[in-house]
Amino acid sequence: MVNNAAGALLLALSALARGGEAVVSRGELVEIGGSFRIPDIMARSGAKLVEVGTTNRTHPADYDRALTPDSKILLKVHRSNFQVTGFTADVAVVELAEMAHARGLACVYDLGSGLLINLSAWGLSGEPTVSEGVAAGADLVVFSGDKLLGGPQAGILVGTEKAIAACRADPIARAVRADKLTLAALEATLALYRDHTTARREIPVLRMLTEDLGSVKRRATAVLQGVGDKAELVEGDSEVGGGSFPGAKLKTWLVGIKHPAPDTFVTQLRSHDPPIIARVAGSRVLLDARTIFPEQVETVVAALKADG
Ligand SMILES: *Cc1c(COP(=O)(O)O)cnc(C)c1O
Repeated sequence: MVNNAAGALLLALSALARGGEAVVSRGELVEIGGSFRIPDIMARSGAKLVEVGTTNRTHPADYDRALTPDSKILLKVHRSNFQVTGFTADVAVVELAEMAHARGLACVYDLGSGLLINLSAWGLSGEPTVSEGVAAGADLVVFSGDKLLGGPQAGILVGTEKAIAACRADPIARAVRADKLTLAALEATLALYRDHTTARREIPVLRMLTEDLGSVKRRATAVLQGVGDKAELVEGDSEVGGGSFPGAKLKTWLVGIKHPAPDTFVTQLRSHDPPIIARVAGSRVLLDARTIFPEQVETVVAALKADG
């Protein structure tokens, strides 16, 4: 465990590829929010970036051709916050790990969001789970503690004994280490995952992503009843956001309020105590009931009445 996934990847690259080359597809040279950029992290780690393939298509032979005696790792980076569609090809991490091992190299997988439960039963697919990354044979799987995992800001490295030992021994480990409070919070979050039903109930992000539509609608109706005539029930979509499940949408129920100056109204709601984050569509301000917890209904109703 380190202080964030950016630190985890820096550490992984330093421990396994410093002074050598790390090979990565041009389609995976991503930027994540807050100026995390793969080429920049690579440069700071002391590993030399070797780009292969093209933006839309990368093949196994591209990696092969790029290998030199200085090659240390094959790096796979998950495209957490955008999609590439159309004429595309990439090399699956399981194949990349096999290639790496056949050539005496290591495979590092920056998986991003730290999804621990497969959410395809709730209509969400495309985001790899940590166990899939580990099962694919990557020597190190790197992910965040605070995205889909739902814990404190942290970066987590899971991998082989040898790769983890190399990370522990690297001087960067100390510079990016997580503090006691982070470890305690992460432990508490991870403990909830022993039972997936408990995790879905207790971890807010999972609760929101897996709540059934009927109960979202009931809550939207409760807000509606509190606010009165000026609000209406609107059918719509929720976006997962937070740099995960790019392009995925979940059906939801929204509370819509027509307003002559919706942008002003949204700004007022944001400066309310506590702040209420809504969105604007046309002349309406929309609040997604999926993201309002039962215990927050009253507060939201009060804010809508005060500012509307
Ligand atoms: C979010 C993300 C990171 C950075 O994670 P932090 O914990 O915010 O530092 C790195 N790589 C990928 C693929 C990500 O999605």
